[in-house]
Amino acid sequence: MGAPMLQGFRSVRGHEAAIGLLRRSIAQRRTASAYLFAGPQGVGKDRVAHALAQTMNCTARANPSDDACGECQNCRRIALGQFVDLLVVKREFRDTVSARERESEAGARPEDIDEKKLRQEIVVDQMKPIMESVAFRPHEGGTRWIIIREADRLHKNAANKLLKTLEEPPAETHFVLLSHRSSALLPTIRSRCQTVNFGLLDEPDVHAVLAGLELTPEHIRELLPLAEGSVGRALIYRDPEHLAARKKLLEEILATLRVKEVAVGGFVELATRYKDPTEKKDQFGRGELEETLALLYRHLRNEALAAAGKSARTSLVHAARAEIVRETMELLDGATSFNVGMQLQNMLVRLREVRP
Ligand SMILES: [Zn+2]
Repeated sequence: MGAPMLQGFRSVRGHEAAIGLLRRSIAQRRTASAYLFAGPQGVGKDRVAHALAQTMNCTARANPSDDACGECQNCRRIALGQFVDLLVVKREFRDTVSARERESEAGARPEDIDEKKLRQEIVVDQMKPIMESVAFRPHEGGTRWIIIREADRLHKNAANKLLKTLEEPPAETHFVLLSHRSSALLPTIRSRCQTVNFGLLDEPDVHAVLAGLELTPEHIRELLPLAEGSVGRALIYRDPEHLAARKKLLEEILATLRVKEVAVGGFVELATRYKDPTEKKDQFGRGELEETLALLYRHLRNEALAAAGKSARTSLVHAARAEIVRETMELLDGATSFNVGMQLQNMLVRLREVRP
């Protein structure tokens, strides 16, 4: 299920401000040697980075203010991931992942790959060949683009390697760092990049992107409310069985809030099931945890809205609980697996303290 072929900035939905800024810098021939695309996951940062590389390498543009043609050889190669001067750096598979599994995941959207299969960090060995290649001029005669997905996941050594290159940027080479946690980047790296901020997508834009994928209108209707501004977030649930399983877990969690005894049922089970995602295959991983908490948050917030006109008290309880879940999600974002169980226990206690 691929997105429609990338044809320059015009084939990206939303992000008018970010794209406007990039297009102006191209038109004025003042493209930065390093960009930081900061903003939520699943909104299209990677697509914009590719559109930028396309525009800068398109051979059919007549004016500096023109968008990429989308048809010339360079444009097509970039869209198909076959352009030798565009390198994408991302977290690699763990050594335990079999060759067959790797193959089946080839071409998958990064957020679709099971977190348990990926290394925690981008390691320095991945950066070495790239940093060596930038010493040479681009092969295709245009500009070279190095896109680093989840740049906040760069291991310290890898980040330092990158920093050295950013301090003396090679000619015709541009870096685009993508991150939904840009505050976790080294300040020295951040300061070398021009930051471009990305926000969440409006619902019509999410709808348009989903409509461009091979989904039935019925399926789109089901996914749309789950997106909350991020196409990637909605697509997590495109497998109906997956969504059903998450909803079941959500029900378990809500059930534990209704019973009087402390710390029974789904929540504690959830907390204890989540240990080290590398340990066992069938264990509850961070991805599942984040998804479940996001569903819980959304559920509580919707309940708060639904109760608003009827009972102010009930509405406040749901809103307060939603806030606790949101805080926990923030705490867990970037936390080590070591204290996840404790954070969940703590969340449970706090949720139960808010009583109708
Ligand atoms: Zn072109």
